[in-house]
Amino acid sequence: MIPYGRQSITEDDIAAVAAVLRSDWITQGPSITAFENALARYCGAAHGVAVANATAALHIACLALDVGPGDLVWTSPNTFLASANCALYCGAEADFVDIDPATYNMCPQALERKLVAARAAGRLPKVVIPVHFAGQSCDMAAIARLAREYGFKVVEDASHAVGADYLDGKVGSCQYSDLAVFSFHPVKILTTGEGGMVMARDAALAQRLQQLRSHGMVRDAALSEQHGAWYYEQHTLGYNYRITDIQAALGLSQLGRLDSFVARRRALAARYDALLAGLPLQCPRQSPDGRSAFHLYPVWIDEAAAGRSRRAVFDGLRAAGIGVNVHYIPVPNQPYYQARGFQPGQFPAAERYYAGAISLPMYYSLSDAEQDQVVAALRRVLA
Ligand SMILES: *Cc1c(COP(=O)(O)O)cnc(C)c1O
Repeated sequence: MIPYGRQSITEDDIAAVAAVLRSDWITQGPSITAFENALARYCGAAHGVAVANATAALHIACLALDVGPGDLVWTSPNTFLASANCALYCGAEADFVDIDPATYNMCPQALERKLVAARAAGRLPKVVIPVHFAGQSCDMAAIARLAREYGFKVVEDASHAVGADYLDGKVGSCQYSDLAVFSFHPVKILTTGEGGMVMARDAALAQRLQQLRSHGMVRDAALSEQHGAWYYEQHTLGYNYRITDIQAALGLSQLGRLDSFVARRRALAARYDALLAGLPLQCPRQSPDGRSAFHLYPVWIDEAAAGRSRRAVFDGLRAAGIGVNVHYIPVPNQPYYQARGFQPGQFPAAERYYAGAISLPMYYSLSDAEQDQVVAALRRVLA
């Protein structure tokens, strides 16, 4: 089976992890700070706060921006559950803004229409979480302009987009947002096993995030001087969302290869674009404002033109040993969200995209020959 995604681990990665295991610090040590500083420098952000996973990162990002009961958080329906669940963890309500049918990302025009209605109703969101689907940045300049006009904060869910470019910077710079979140799950572009990071420009926000990831505790030189070296204070209700130095060492080692990971993914995407031309499907369209990191390569099966259902194409590929997947079932269509009042048909662009979506294998070590096998299987299934 050719999977849809998989990690790339080298002997250097293993040596970096082994070195931490032989050291004095397997958690709360120097590898975490080194990983945070290196990724912040790579992205052009001032700060990085590494945590146990991106779900935890989204949770503390919302908390750091004061999301609480009575607040609204808007995200894309075309995302993983965590982008919406983080609002509910804080006691806030989640709502969704439909996608642009060309990029599958949150549509800025739909966002503006919803904001106009929300202002009239006196129910503006506190935070909006655009999701850089498949590794392509959202139209962040437009979203940032709306954020200023309507007074909401922006958290980029950049779980798919580490290494991606947007306008003249890197995704994660927070030039058009308050915070940005990365995931280091093994199917993502860069891995720490489990892990995530919140990127920030503002030092006070970064400090709040550091407290939230570790029980809301403060322990510093001034307090030690005054009270003794054992002394710490709890200033807020935090969690244990810490990452380990073992994981951070893997992340730091992987970061050295991030540009080559992304370059290979872009080359594979360009090959898919060429090899799939003429088939009854839509390859992922790219905005000229940036360059995707291609966490995913999602094709949209035109069921009418293909004379086949997406289900038939998916099952045919799986039967041929191609580990395709589907991203995403619209979050508001989940039973849990339907029970909270969302209705089928509320986000038609996301539903229409989902009905035809198939993610083809896309990962650093996918060879040209394996990719040819994927394309040949797809041609057979569609023939
Ligand atoms: C993977 C993913 C997450 C969650 O990441 P974890 O590190 O597994 O918690 C959140 N949002 C999106 C869009 C994702 O793809």
